Amino acid sequence: MQKNNPHNEKRVLIIHTGGTIGMKKTEKGYTPVKGYLAEELKTIPDLNRADFPSWDLYEMSPLLDSSNMSVSEWNEIGRVIYEKYDSYCGFVILHGTDTMAYTASALSFMLEGLAKPVILTGSQIPLSELRSDGRDNLISSILIASEGVACEVSLYFSARLLRGNRSMKMSADGLVAFDSPSYPHLAEAGITVKYNLPALLEKREGGLKYHPFAKVPIGVLKVFPGIQFGLFEDIMTEKLSGIVLETFGAGNIPMGEGDLLPIIKKAFASGTVITVCSQCPSGTVSLGAYETSSQLKRAGAVSGRDMTTEAAVAKLYHLFSLGLDKETIKRMMEEDIAGELTK
Ligand code: ASP
Repeated sequence: MQKNNPHNEKRVLIIHTGGTIGMKKTEKGYTPVKGYLAEELKTIPDLNRADFPSWDLYEMSPLLDSSNMSVSEWNEIGRVIYEKYDSYCGFVILHGTDTMAYTASALSFMLEGLAKPVILTGSQIPLSELRSDGRDNLISSILIASEGVACEVSLYFSARLLRGNRSMKMSADGLVAFDSPSYPHLAEAGITVKYNLPALLEKREGGLKYHPFAKVPIGVLKVFPGIQFGLFEDIMTEKLSGIVLETFGAGNIPMGEGDLLPIIKKAFASGTVITVCSQCPSGTVSLGAYETSSQLKRAGAVSGRDMTTEAAVAKLYHLFSLGLDKETIKRMMEEDIAGELTK
């Protein structure tokens, strides 16, 4: 599908992956339907104005509720961007909100050297419904993608442009559904789009590289008061390449009864990369600040600093997919490679 606007050279590719924005109401609830979004887009006058950037639509198959997204879909989105990179000034990915922050994080690592905007967006209310937030999210995302200022993987929602690998879904039903609590917004869309230029990644040179992900066996474990770590011992084998521990505050875990430490030591001995993230949306992990975290450090865990769990998961996939050795992966988990953590 292509818009007939020969006078406008700026062309954006919309990649439709599924999600609420393009869903149709059926007897079984909202579901993505092939070809339905293309029809919806025809009914939005702004998308067809002469002063609007040109765009093409690429629909993935099958369209998915983003809860069903996995590494293969991330790879496909990355591949499409890589293959069509030279033909477009920017890319807008329509995506379900549930796992949008994971996909944004994954693409930020997968697309090395990105020098054009890649913006994920979606909506809480389908485009076909009254009061849909999808219209502004889509129109603004295309405009921002065509401007070529924020040349990184970002996420646009409710008038905010966020760094993709810093974003989190904050509300299951509010229209202000995303934020990046540990990083400033990249732009605010008011009457005009105001970019926060110092917060943007520098435009990279050297061309785009595409690093598809492998299906690396990794896990996430959220710590809670009274956790019986022994229950998790069986998963800490050499089969587990990496694990993200979601700890309290600055990286703390319960000490004493039901001790985690022997299990962490076992995981470490079997070569698992243990990354410590915080359950707090903002602030940073500081291993060793408290006695309750220094044991993790001693056991060989690495600090995820202010990385979101979403970014830590995607980064583990990425680094293992590159085939790096464990020591390099551990070192790189603590280093900033795509704007995902504060140096
Ligand atoms: N379950 C939907 C999805 O993530 C929710 C949404 O799009 O808002 O695909």
